[in-house]
Amino acid sequence: NAVPADAKNLRVKLVLLGDSGVGKSCIVLRFVRGQFDATSKVTVGASFLSQTIALQDSTTVKFEIWDTAGQERYSALAPLYYRGAGVAVIVYDITSPESFKKAQYWVKELQKHGSPDIVMALVGNKADLHEKREVQTEDGMELAEKNGMFFIETSAKTADNINQLFEEIGKRLPRPAP
Ligand code: GDP
Ligand code: MG
Repeated sequence: NAVPADAKNLRVKLVLLGDSGVGKSCIVLRFVRGQFDATSKVTVGASFLSQTIALQDSTTVKFEIWDTAGQERYSALAPLYYRGAGVAVIVYDITSPESFKKAQYWVKELQKHGSPDIVMALVGNKADLHEKREVQTEDGMELAEKNGMFFIETSAKTADNINQLFEEIGKRLPRPAP
């Protein structure tokens, strides 16, 4: 949940969910370190990273990002992972209909078991691979709309829409009562 450090400084736990290989770790590394490493096969380095951004209204948001080291394969562990999360980012790969199905599963799972005020975002990653696209933008939009989620297509490779993703999440966080 968004913990109000004070009115202008928010801090929130963010988890990423989605099939293995959709680019969750690459999205985090692009956002936090500005890097993309096409050679890293497995999640490398820290499984916990944080990054603070400033929004236009001068609110700052500190994202405490939990990245899995492949535990996404074990759905039973997921509740431990997303407990207390104020933000869930559900990621699929636009070249993989199977990963989009898995995203639908995660949406349902979070609606059943996530905190009621969780902010959910749906992300179609690998948008740079448009020639191999198999999940249409409209399908992502529709799933997101039905479930009150924010939707965006990103590329961790080219950095397209990565900062926008986190800015839009920041704008949607519940603000502490004045
Ligand atoms: P995770 O298992 O969801 O954490 O996925 P990773 O971040 O480890 O990425 C899996 C593979 O997809 C790696 O080989 C990445 O180089 C590749 N990848 C990740 N994001 C993108 C992207 O936006 N575009 C392309 N073309 N490849 C990507
Ligand atoms: Mg990973």
